Amino acid sequence: MRILLLGGTGEARELARALAGERGYEIVSSLAGRISDPVRPGGAVRIGGFGGVGGLRQWLGDNRIDLVVDATHPFAATMTAHAAEATGRLGLPMIRLSRPGWIAAAGDHWHRVPDIGAAASASAELGDRILLTIGRQGVGAFAGYTRPWYLIRAIDPPEAELPPRHEILLARGPFTVAAESELLARHRIDVLVTKDSGGAATAAKLTAARAAGIPAVVVDRPPVPPGLTVVPTVDAARTAISEFAGELP
Ligand code: NAP
Repeated sequence: MRILLLGGTGEARELARALAGERGYEIVSSLAGRISDPVRPGGAVRIGGFGGVGGLRQWLGDNRIDLVVDATHPFAATMTAHAAEATGRLGLPMIRLSRPGWIAAAGDHWHRVPDIGAAASASAELGDRILLTIGRQGVGAFAGYTRPWYLIRAIDPPEAELPPRHEILLARGPFTVAAESELLARHRIDVLVTKDSGGAATAAKLTAARAAGIPAVVVDRPPVPPGLTVVPTVDAARTAISEFAGELP
């Protein structure tokens, strides 16, 4: 069974590693090529976009793929939509592996917003020294806010226009609660902005914000296309894959 594994997440790497040890699967992992020095999964890897739905359909046919596992980030909505459309048209099965979102705990002061634009306006209302942890995409939505000071954390430098008062911090998770608490204190951060990415690797900032009594603006996830098989964990993905494998002629 030939599987295209759409990646760019820790779960995708973990799944590639797990499936490599099982018989009967040939895996090709795919990365978008957005970051300069990605953590590469083991096994076969291709890098770069497919060229939209048409390009993906072509690639799936050329490479005789039997199943697509979309383990991209919960906010990679375009890739998920393209994969859903291409597999739908080809009649191929697809599994969406998406880790559960975060849930507020006692002591959290979260402001849930529908998108990055709403996060920009809500955070500017809430504070003066704002930690942006939304990655480098989307920071352009904050460019017009001239009053607050922003600490912009990303893996690679942002290319978008930035707010006039900012500092860039290049860093890659996972982060510890102690390190996140120190960061909040050192920069006198009074608002945290995050996407609802879920997962343990970047959750420490929310724990640190709770401990410091700092509000968090949390961007809701984009919707998942209807009709997809969605699983929350690598183990659940393995089970779903073996079920599809059992159905193959
Ligand atoms: P996106 O907006 O959903 O996708 C934009 C385009 O990038 C897609 O149409 C596709 O280009 C290409 N693409 C995305 N993921 C790909 C993959 N795994 N393999 C090949 N092409 C891919 O995606 P994004 O939000 O920019 O995310 C890009 C990558 O970064 C994803 O692999 C995702 O898992 C990872 N990532 C994203 C976030 C986030 O917050 N968005 C966070 C951490 C990691 P074509 O149309 O040309 O095929």
